[in-house]
Amino acid sequence: MSAFHQISNEAAKAGAQLVAVSKTRPNEAVMQIYNQGQRLFAENRVQDLLDKAAVLPNDIQWHLIGHLQTNKVKYIAPFIAMIHAIDSWKLLEECQRQAAKHQRNIRCLLQLHIAEETTKFGFSKEELIEVASKFAAQPMPNIILAGIMTMATNTNDTQKISSEFETAHQLFLELKNKVFHQQPEFCELSMGMSSDYRIALQHGATLIRVGSLLFQE
Ligand SMILES: *Cc1c(COP(=O)(O)O)cnc(C)c1O
Repeated sequence: MSAFHQISNEAAKAGAQLVAVSKTRPNEAVMQIYNQGQRLFAENRVQDLLDKAAVLPNDIQWHLIGHLQTNKVKYIAPFIAMIHAIDSWKLLEECQRQAAKHQRNIRCLLQLHIAEETTKFGFSKEELIEVASKFAAQPMPNIILAGIMTMATNTNDTQKISSEFETAHQLFLELKNKVFHQQPEFCELSMGMSSDYRIALQHGATLIRVGSLLFQE
């Protein structure tokens, strides 16, 4: 079985979807995965996303998973399916402005900062609850707040990764049940990469973002 089938089957069994992280991979490699049926692909840089989207098939749903600068939202707003790493209210407002301009809706995830590394972007748990509550009180017409995204600490300590993913899972459930209980579109928990996607699936991930393991063949 190909790595693609292996990982997408594992995801499906857990009720999750595979987001194929195509960053740094050539178009031919992306097409190999595409030809096996994959349609969700993600890049972490706006320019790389634009380059790939311009030449690869139109029915690919593109996700942006990296840090997004406010001044770059306008480039991806016409077609982006999901933005995973919303880390400020200002960025959300700019997504709303640009989505409205193109008369479309954009699904966005709030990024939870949980890992030890200080360089990783995102909200603390308290900030995230505040932003989510603010959004629930004053929703933006062209933004679908679809859930949260996080990255675990880069470590071999699986206990630590488990505990971080469980923290994200509990926060996700709390928001889903309390803040967004009448909004079924708040349904995504994006977490897990090549090294830790199995742990993420055990802790309720609905989107796993896998790159190297998928493309290594
Ligand atoms: C690169 C990247 C991934 C995928 O990482 P792999 O180890 O290649 O699977 C997932 N999420 C984010 C935010 C990334 O930048």
